[in-house]
Amino acid sequence: MVESLEKKKLHAKKVFSELKKHYSDVPLLFLHYKTDAQMLCAIILSAQSTDVQVNKVTSKLFLHYKTVDDFASADLKSFEQEIKSTGYYKQKAKHVIECFKMIKEKHGGQIPLSMHALIELPGVGRKTANLVLANKGIIEGIATDTHVWRLAQRLGFSKFDSQDKIEKDLMEVFDKKVWHRINGLLISHGRAVCTARNPNCMRCFLNKKKLCPKIGVERNYS
Ligand code: SF4
Repeated sequence: MVESLEKKKLHAKKVFSELKKHYSDVPLLFLHYKTDAQMLCAIILSAQSTDVQVNKVTSKLFLHYKTVDDFASADLKSFEQEIKSTGYYKQKAKHVIECFKMIKEKHGGQIPLSMHALIELPGVGRKTANLVLANKGIIEGIATDTHVWRLAQRLGFSKFDSQDKIEKDLMEVFDKKVWHRINGLLISHGRAVCTARNPNCMRCFLNKKKLCPKIGVERNYS
């Protein structure tokens, strides 16, 4: 049965409200940083890695890389070694250095704050751009990582298998005012309860409220 958009929006609203209740103190970003340049670097390093691992690496890395200039002038081979344990280190090191070089050359050393300009930077896709923008108070989309992807499908918000299409589906049903919160809330639920391999449906508050279609419960829209 095809659900109306209004029903989907109501479902999204109820899911958001429950998530917010259970994960009230979720930060916009789980990564540690002090400067905007460090924030962008940390987000690039977090691809295919965990926030815990990135925070471990950046706790040392960020002692001597703080500004756009610091990252743009980094030595490739040394940088590769410093970020090695985040995985895909050769590609990430190249992306980070090229990204900050472009910020210097094309944007006068200021990280651009628009989706269009951000996704032109090496190593920056929509997920990274959405996270950077949300942390600067600019809302253009919903950062869609592996947890958001999985939960969007399990909760019935999207049937697609593409990051862009899932983000579009989420943007359609969630109120724009809360787009910047969706990533952190779904990550929190994905880590605590709805894990990739063993979702704990029996103890899931969304299941108890009949808000998850994954295990065949009827949703209650009343
Ligand atoms: S009921 Fe299961 S699949 Fe649905 S959100 Fe909860 S843990 Fe995930």
